[in-house]
Amino acid sequence: MWKALDVAAWKEQRRADLAGVREAVAGIVGAVEQDGDEALYALTRKFDHIDLEDLAVAPEEFEAAYDEVDDALIDALADAEANIRRFHELQRNRSLWLEEVEPGVVLGVKTTPLDRIGAYVPGGRAAYPSTALMTTVPAQVAGVAEVCVCSPPPIHPLTLVALDLAGVDECYRIGGAQAIAAMALGTETIDPVQKIVGPGNVFVTAAKMMLRDHAEIDFPAGPSEIGVLADESADPVFVAADVLAQAEHDPHAGCVLVTTDPALPARVGAEIRRQLETAERREIIEAALENSGYVVAADFDEAVAAMDEVAPEHLSIQVTDPMAALNAVHHAGSIFVGPYTAVAFGDYASGTNHVLPTAGYARTYSGLDIHHFCKTSSVQMLSREGAEALGDIVESLATAEGLHAHANSVRLRRQRRE
Ligand code: NAD
Repeated sequence: MWKALDVAAWKEQRRADLAGVREAVAGIVGAVEQDGDEALYALTRKFDHIDLEDLAVAPEEFEAAYDEVDDALIDALADAEANIRRFHELQRNRSLWLEEVEPGVVLGVKTTPLDRIGAYVPGGRAAYPSTALMTTVPAQVAGVAEVCVCSPPPIHPLTLVALDLAGVDECYRIGGAQAIAAMALGTETIDPVQKIVGPGNVFVTAAKMMLRDHAEIDFPAGPSEIGVLADESADPVFVAADVLAQAEHDPHAGCVLVTTDPALPARVGAEIRRQLETAERREIIEAALENSGYVVAADFDEAVAAMDEVAPEHLSIQVTDPMAALNAVHHAGSIFVGPYTAVAFGDYASGTNHVLPTAGYARTYSGLDIHHFCKTSSVQMLSREGAEALGDIVESLATAEGLHAHANSVRLRRQRRE
């Protein structure tokens, strides 16, 4: 199960997993489009084996959730919420900046939050209160007015507490592709959203990609991945522990070790087998390890190039000079530097966001941050002096393009006597 990997084939397989469910997802999306709420009840019965009475979580259910979980857990969640809020507040831009770039020419950018977004909080094989925070807190920090959440039933009380801590009160008990379809297309109960964020299994991710014409999406954030860049200084116990931690998410999870030390893969493999003996989610981990393995590189540059090709969701750097590696790599969703930075810190509590691109999409997408919840408008403000300064450029270029009305709109202003 722990074997040498061909990176290109590995990546192709991860995309193929998504493509493999496209037909099934198209059927689910079609049903929601046609039958609205009725389809949501039927699909929940089929895939979640639950007969729902109500789609929406009632306000008193949020309150009642606090009584069902340990106070210590609520405290931990509140600490995580504060850390996530702190990190995302650091990303906030000025809502409007204006700068005079030359006399009479003022330019700037106005940042506006989206009006209504949808957050998917997974909940099939595990409860994800942490994801409830990771998706909704940045939206709140960005200033989004309406945040709608979908999560498969039964929704864990800790997830409801997380939503309450984040200040979100619109939540529906729907999972999978049907939840994405409901938020993108709208139903009798659920108003459509402008953008959908959040991770999920292959069904959720395929639905997000399929519905991009109806609602903007963050990026494909499918089954979890880790890439470990390691040399002879790496501790196989830590490497194996991080591999198991991502593998336990999903049978489709994938883990790649890239190392310059030819002896390390066997040492990590032995450690994986040892830690597996006591792992609680052994079956899921073993399945995920089938999609996992290692690459031995000739030198540091070759190792970095291989890891860039993987473009992992999480990149763990466990080498002698981690800062050199941090500078050298280009493509990763989130980067964990040094032996003590377990990926789990970012999953829960450091405050960075754990909603990240998978399947090689970190080459082109950034992980979730507050910019996903805003849009910007450029702003320009010219005085008569500014119109004079730029007038010749516009009149000559517009005339050359044959757009005489453009040229005229500037000429008329230059001719106006105040
Ligand atoms: P989920 O909520 O994503 O999926 C559960 C839903 O899938 C169910 O409600 C059901 O409706 C649907 N489903 C299950 N089997 C189906 C079938 N055969 N046909 C159609 N629909 C079906 O929960 P999960 O399954 O536990 O997956 C969570 C995923 O999120 C994991 O893959 C995990 O690795 C990933 N994750 C990713 C990130 C990221 O940022 N990339 C972060 C956290 C979690």
